[in-house]
Amino acid sequence: MSDASVNSREFFPGPVLLLGAPGVGKGTQAKLLVDEFRIPQVSTGDLLREHRKNHTPLGMMADELMSKGQLVPDELVNEMVAARLTEPDTKHGYILDGFPRTLNQAEWLDGELATSALPVIAISIAVPERELLERITGRMTCPVCGTIYNVYSEPPAKAGHCDREGAALTRRPDDTEPVFRERMKAFEAKTAAVIEYYRKHGGRFAEVNGNLSVDEVTQSIRGTLLRLRQHGEAERQEK
Ligand code: AMP
Repeated sequence: MSDASVNSREFFPGPVLLLGAPGVGKGTQAKLLVDEFRIPQVSTGDLLREHRKNHTPLGMMADELMSKGQLVPDELVNEMVAARLTEPDTKHGYILDGFPRTLNQAEWLDGELATSALPVIAISIAVPERELLERITGRMTCPVCGTIYNVYSEPPAKAGHCDREGAALTRRPDDTEPVFRERMKAFEAKTAAVIEYYRKHGGRFAEVNGNLSVDEVTQSIRGTLLRLRQHGEAERQEK
């Protein structure tokens, strides 16, 4: 089965993790893969922002940590993910974006997926650290459709407005240089180990170069996903 012959609408990716430092493009890529594979993006950052907007107890507790670029406690995030993964749209797979971010979350997820029909695929997006600050401070998002722009590298046609919706684009309050530095510290202290954890799984892990155009990165992730899923299937059939 070559990549070109695969009909993405009939291919079930199963659980997919997009891993990487803040600003590598996890959200942008997840949204493009959603369109292609018709499976939902489950972004823990987006879910937490929704809680914050709705002033739920979780949102109020997470608010301060998020504004400082620190991680929300594992148990709370795990519980939130568990609830989301019971929803029927996750049946054929989902793209977890921003989760797991700690070893504890990764181990918890392993337990949750122990009986899953398809094993998890982890894809790490690698971008040199010096590129990340500009990606974070230049990021603007459409509040209506969620499309992500970058004033430096992916600007909208009309400054400050979404190409699709025309809505005024917004900036995340944690996309400032000082909070970015804190988020990088949390990444190095906690999340870098998660990438190593999945790297040890061998067949179901791959790293892609995220320092290319959005389209090139999408093609690379798509090819990687198909290859890792096929590899997994071949292994299962041999057993
Ligand atoms: P993101 O949108 O993925 O950049 O996440 C924004 C913020 O939400 C992070 O800086 C954390 O404060 C919080 N957050 C998102 N995902 C997690 C997670 N898996 N574990 C802990 N905190 C998280």
